Amino acid sequence: MVTSLGRRRVKKADINEEVEFGKAIISADDSQFLCTFCGCDLQSEDQARKHVVGWKHFRRARMVSSALACPSFDASASSVVGRIVAIGDCHGGRTCSLLLPQRTRSAFHGGSIYSRTCRDGGRQLPSLMSALRHQDLDHVCDGKWLVAIWSYGEIDVRCHASRWSGNGVGQEECEGGTALSLARAYVCAVLHEAEAAACAARAYQRGSGAASEARVYSIILAVPPASAGRNNDRAPFVGELIDRVAATKELNAALSEACREAGAGEALVFTGEDTWNFAMTSHQQHDGQLKVTAATSGPDNVAAVPGSLNADLSDGHVHVRSDLCGPVHSRLRDLLIRGLGLVA
Ligand SMILES: [Zn+2]
Repeated sequence: MVTSLGRRRVKKADINEEVEFGKAIISADDSQFLCTFCGCDLQSEDQARKHVVGWKHFRRARMVSSALACPSFDASASSVVGRIVAIGDCHGGRTCSLLLPQRTRSAFHGGSIYSRTCRDGGRQLPSLMSALRHQDLDHVCDGKWLVAIWSYGEIDVRCHASRWSGNGVGQEECEGGTALSLARAYVCAVLHEAEAAACAARAYQRGSGAASEARVYSIILAVPPASAGRNNDRAPFVGELIDRVAATKELNAALSEACREAGAGEALVFTGEDTWNFAMTSHQQHDGQLKVTAATSGPDNVAAVPGSLNADLSDGHVHVRSDLCGPVHSRLRDLLIRGLGLVA
């Protein structure tokens, strides 16, 4: 599938300050300006003009033109969500960093589920609290939710799938020895990190004299589609693409199962095994024969494998382009509306 959206990408050089100012800024008087795209207050016309040609506004404007933005959700979420942190590998930040303007932070901490949660002497998951600044803490201590969107797994599939893929449940369940044990260790570590962050926020709150409870809502982002990729010495693409596609499917099914096991009582959800279907190549019935759509024109010109990353939606490497992640945004919004009881 090729969307017209993909072809219509705004470049920063195309931005005309006058036009952008007229489109985005409203003002009550000479000292109060509001950017209707970003939802931010600006104190003078000069500041507002600088803002509309800045990167932050540019990214937001591109998002609005890509139909990623949802002002009604932003308005209802702003009173309930203190901060959203997209934490983990590069897919999390790229996908979610513009989910809720002014409230979302992305914290890149590379690695795999295996290296972060299973391997002996391996690193721990990054600390959620370390992604927050003091002013963020004031927001999440105000009775509002801290939402953590965790993203790991793409490196597991890219480099390590042979370690666990194909091992059925019921085989020897050493940690990380099967997709399910890998997923369970991840979910367990995410819940542990949520508890640690809630404790730290409570401690901060006592110090600041605020009264309300700190709450953390954890979302695990599904593993994005496998791609042919390019050479990368630090994280090489191991094995055949078709096997990595199967491993991605297996890991996402395991994440779904592990999150279900963790129970509805926990403030933890998985975005779903079908999260990234929109960004995959697929089979299509054509003249009575199965035909693979798109993705034959990627950088490596590899024949497409159904279920792999659709090159038309990728940035030429392993990522789905941020401005085309609308379906993930709408899924995250639905999860937050249901999970946090937002008024849609
Ligand atoms: Zn703006």
